[in-house]
Amino acid sequence: MTVDPRPPSRGLFLDRDGTLIRDTGYPSDPEAVTLLPGVARALLSARARGYALVIVSNQSGVGRGMIAPDAAEAVQARVEELFAREGVTFDGVRFCFHHPDDGCACRKPEPGMLVDAAEALGLDLSASVMVGDKPSDVQAGVRAGAKAVRFGGAPDPRATATITTWDELAAWLSANS
Ligand SMILES: [Mg+2]
Ligand SMILES: [Zn+2]
Repeated sequence: MTVDPRPPSRGLFLDRDGTLIRDTGYPSDPEAVTLLPGVARALLSARARGYALVIVSNQSGVGRGMIAPDAAEAVQARVEELFAREGVTFDGVRFCFHHPDDGCACRKPEPGMLVDAAEALGLDLSASVMVGDKPSDVQAGVRAGAKAVRFGGAPDPRATATITTWDELAAWLSANS
């Protein structure tokens, strides 16, 4: 058996709040971070299928003055610590801290964070998948030229698939890649 030395060429772009962790609304408390069931196992299986793991998260609470930048940093550090305990590390993390009125190119549903990370990591967007719990996640994935999976919620006509658990996502990836 040989080990493939190539770096991953496709990405699994991941919304954070409400997708990887329980959504608490404008999260500023690291102690409140809770991973959703099965997520670490599903990400490990995606990694084994050659997906780079990239978090793409709107954090407008910072731009709105509701979350201090160091609190946002502490929450993310806690997220990464909890995943690291399960053996999961991320290849990239992109945040949009802007206020919705800023008209930036990074706030989902704009695809800026996905495009930027894909360039930095050499990922083929057309072979990539965006997973998120909001319509804006699905739109960002579609606009980036990736497949889009809606996590939870009602079926989304723009989404390639709708799933409600991470085990389902792992099964979908195994059937579709
Ligand atoms: Mg979300
Ligand atoms: Zn932005």
